[in-house]
Amino acid sequence: MSDFEKLGEFGLIARFQSRLKHRSRRVRLGIGDDAAVYSPRLGWHQVASTDALVETVHFRTDTTPPERLGEKAIAVNVSDIAAMGGVPLVALVSLGLPASTPLKFIDGMMKGFEKASADYGIELAGGDTVASPRHLFINVTLVGEVRKSRYFTRAGARPGDTLMVTGSLGDAALGLALLGKRRQPLQGGTKHKNFLCRRHQAPTARVREAALLARSRARVGAMIDISDGLVQDLSHLLESGGLGARLWEDALPHSTALRRICAANRLNPLSFSLSGGEDYELLFTLAPVDVKKITRQFQKANALATPIGEVTANGGQVSLLRSSGRLEPLPRALGYDHFKPASPKHSGGSKI
Ligand code: ADP
Ligand code: MG
Repeated sequence: MSDFEKLGEFGLIARFQSRLKHRSRRVRLGIGDDAAVYSPRLGWHQVASTDALVETVHFRTDTTPPERLGEKAIAVNVSDIAAMGGVPLVALVSLGLPASTPLKFIDGMMKGFEKASADYGIELAGGDTVASPRHLFINVTLVGEVRKSRYFTRAGARPGDTLMVTGSLGDAALGLALLGKRRQPLQGGTKHKNFLCRRHQAPTARVREAALLARSRARVGAMIDISDGLVQDLSHLLESGGLGARLWEDALPHSTALRRICAANRLNPLSFSLSGGEDYELLFTLAPVDVKKITRQFQKANALATPIGEVTANGGQVSLLRSSGRLEPLPRALGYDHFKPASPKHSGGSKI
């Protein structure tokens, strides 16, 4: 019998209860009752999102340590709330645990849940714990809030808008490639490799950046978080208006780590930044007159937002303006095919 089986469902829940901190006065009742009770905020809408991570589909226990997994499960949900311009508040976590799961692994995940909850100011107020016959799964439901007068959707982009992205692109996909190539390691410095692996294992949700945009008066047209790759998620912003886009090769934000590791292994950074999944950066459209102001406000807040292209009226067409000045059309859903020769398999396609 494993440690976890000895402890049993209720022992496990008691463990959760004692290790997860109560931190929000708005939560009146957390773990331990039939349901959680929390009070909403005047002038704000409630916003809710849920995301599941399934072992072998979204993560492998040999490449993601339990603490990072716990952090990631929370972060990917926070990212969805951030993409609406919202603030996260209360999380519920359902765990499906195979009987063989080591207690140490569960404790590690719990630590990750607690760390991410503290980082994002969330209260983990309940959940469900069940046995799973084979694989581990985690489902997180997150409730947050958006100002009634100011939240962002996928609709609302206009021709002429500037496309902006937070942070850097492609790191998580290259991190996954690094983790998958442990037997034939890629060349390059350990510091850079660790940075990229971390970006895959425990991404940072851009909730601070979202709050900055929501507080600003800039005309933000549409926003989405990039989970399936830039080109693919960009197409969701263009759908509703029959719009197209032009991306500027030279402007794509590549981290130093991505540039160095790609250079050392003759990989094309574009194959990661255009189509690599799981960056969890925010992609949004902005009126061109607001670009300077927002860029400056981000700098002041020690955050990063980069103009990477523009929205066009050219329905369905996404193209890349190369450094050479040539304009190349990108296949819309499968932007990465175009650049595939140099790239290892990456994560974008693993979701159903
Ligand atoms: P019920 O039988 O009413 O569904 P449970 O026994 O499943 O209740 O859960 C008891 C309490 O423990 C509830 O408050 C629930 O929210 C909490 N809980 C159960 N599993 C988890 C978990 N994985 N994380 C956080 N809280 C949990
Ligand atoms: Mg009950």
